[in-house]
Amino acid sequence: MRIGCPKEIKNHEYRVGLTPESARELVDHGHEVWIETQAGAGIGAADAQYVTAGAKVVDRPEVIFAECEMVVKVKEPQAVERARLREGQILYTYLHLAPDPEQTKELLASGVTGIAYETVTGAGGTLPLLKPMSQVAGRMSVQAGATALEKAQGGRGVLLGGVPGVMPGKVAVIGGGVVGFNAAQMAAGLGADVTILDRSPEVLERVGTHFESRAKTRFSNVANLYESVCEADLVIGAVLIPGAAAPKLVSRDMLKDMQKGAVLVDVAIDQGGCFETSRPTTHADPTYVVDDIVHYCVANMPGAVARTSTYALNNVTLPHALRIAQLGWKEALRSDPHLAEGLNVHAGEVTYEAVAKELGYTY
Ligand code: NAD
Repeated sequence: MRIGCPKEIKNHEYRVGLTPESARELVDHGHEVWIETQAGAGIGAADAQYVTAGAKVVDRPEVIFAECEMVVKVKEPQAVERARLREGQILYTYLHLAPDPEQTKELLASGVTGIAYETVTGAGGTLPLLKPMSQVAGRMSVQAGATALEKAQGGRGVLLGGVPGVMPGKVAVIGGGVVGFNAAQMAAGLGADVTILDRSPEVLERVGTHFESRAKTRFSNVANLYESVCEADLVIGAVLIPGAAAPKLVSRDMLKDMQKGAVLVDVAIDQGGCFETSRPTTHADPTYVVDDIVHYCVANMPGAVARTSTYALNNVTLPHALRIAQLGWKEALRSDPHLAEGLNVHAGEVTYEAVAKELGYTY
């Protein structure tokens, strides 16, 4: 199969659909890879590395869209890219169609076969192609919070790990799922005093067993949350209620009872945020202060570490890309019900129930 990978054109998107190593893997399996020139620049992968991997470097993205049977990307196609898609072509990328009627309409009009990373499932109803980005955001949240705790950033001047003779900082992680687990790992690794709050007994048991004495677990009710938040130097919001906006777990009122200069990192900001005072920020200007509490609410945290994020994403997307290339999309989806869950649009029809329901298409 001829597989194409254009350079991402969404504002501030530095990731790339295929690393040179992924291109090599596809070429080694007998496929052709066409990569747009400079597509890997944002992760420090030069055109020459793709050439060494056996890929062909193409100057113009329209050639990739016109000539390749499968297009592999990271972000949903932008308007100019959507106009280049065509019937019979496979588009394999994040799509996030439910909140995006315009994109959905144009993908249907193109007739493309759209396989969306975010709806491919794994064992036990997990979303393995979303997981690496949660891992990245969870780990980054502690790095971001530690920086925000510095005096120059408006923080209370606490070093999370402490030093011999001085107590470590206190970190409250609200939500012990993928983000929370990874945040707790980083915070515990730094030597901080970590408490993980969750409402799920299974999650509390899992993190409790994993961390043993390196982190405490606590049931997430109003009283426990209040106490943990008020004594924390750093609070990480990592909750998710699937299909719903994040619950507001820290009210504006609570800020006055927190320690001055404490930091709130709201990773759940992409679902509306779990603190009442959260509003989305950018990597260019990531923090702001409300009632002496520093807020960090960047909605696309993995974008800041594009290289790590690209490699983490390729680790989970490449095996499916290979199967699609080997077997053709129909057989690849027929033989793997988890990959089949990724099919969102095909030949002018919405093929994913939740998207059809949300946007009023027949399914
Ligand atoms: P997850 O489903 O693995 O974990 C969510 C956890 O929240 C679950 O364990 C659940 O039991 C818990 N929870 C739900 N309600 C709670 C409550 N009231 N109190 C305490 N815990 C509660 O989800 P995840 O992959 O860890 O993602 C967490 C959030 O991070 C999501 O909103 C996701 O969209 C977001 N996210 C943001 C970025 C970013 O760049 N900002 C990147 C990746 C993920």
